[in-house]
Amino acid sequence: MEIEVKKSSDDEIVFIVRDAEVPFINAIRRYAMVNVPKIAIEDVNIIRNDSAMFNEVLAHRLGLTPLVSDEEAIAGLLPMDECCGEDERCAKCSVAFEFNEVGPKLVYSKDLKSSDSKIKPVYDAIPLVKLKEGEELNIIAYARIGYGKDHAKWMPTTVCAYKQYPEITFNDDVNIDYDCADACPRGILKSDRRSKKIKILDIEDCAMCKSCVRASKNNSNETPRRSYINVDHRENDFIFTIETDGSMPPKEVLLKACEELDKKADEFIEFCEQGGS
Ligand code: SF4
Repeated sequence: MEIEVKKSSDDEIVFIVRDAEVPFINAIRRYAMVNVPKIAIEDVNIIRNDSAMFNEVLAHRLGLTPLVSDEEAIAGLLPMDECCGEDERCAKCSVAFEFNEVGPKLVYSKDLKSSDSKIKPVYDAIPLVKLKEGEELNIIAYARIGYGKDHAKWMPTTVCAYKQYPEITFNDDVNIDYDCADACPRGILKSDRRSKKIKILDIEDCAMCKSCVRASKNNSNETPRRSYINVDHRENDFIFTIETDGSMPPKEVLLKACEELDKKADEFIEFCEQGGS
């Protein structure tokens, strides 16, 4: 198997995996979404909420506010099920956040005061609730490590998807159809009448929608109609994209997903070796 990173930034990674199988790639996708530990607000104690927003809606908003969850930030913090599991104030598995605001003001994520300087909202400017003149908000919330399989707030990925590597070929025994290039919604085909070719500008951007194939068939004068262009995919090559909510770098999500999958595979092998009971 071969991996080639095409694009890498703080919140997105695009890479090509060659010579792999669909079940393996799909297992990584699922593990990246639901089995990577992330921290999110789980318990919210609302002492006073004079705002027009219901307590439940406010608690939901707090839960979905992305918090810094990279390896360094959450090092030493235990997942709920490996610690007390109940005591929300346990310092070994939770981080406290506090709000003590008086209106008029728009309360932003940056107003959440954390008990741990490393674990704080990823973005400062997420509007959470609006307070009118004299309205008060007093909240103590507790964030804990969890997994996307339990709730979407613990899912680090906003995009986690793969597609098979596109393959575009041309039928030389069919008259060249320059117009089919205009049907491509992504603009990746370019007719070049001088060289009597259709150029492919960026094959990896092809969505395999086959609009070009349908257009070429419609333009055909033959009976039965035939397309000048063919779109297919390589069976064992994939283009994988991971985008995160900023809580951790996408590369870390990928590595952690592989680590967790590896652990699961070892457990399964051990289970089978022990007779599967
Ligand atoms: S399959 Fe769709 S995206 Fe790909 S070249 Fe054809 S029209 Fe463009």
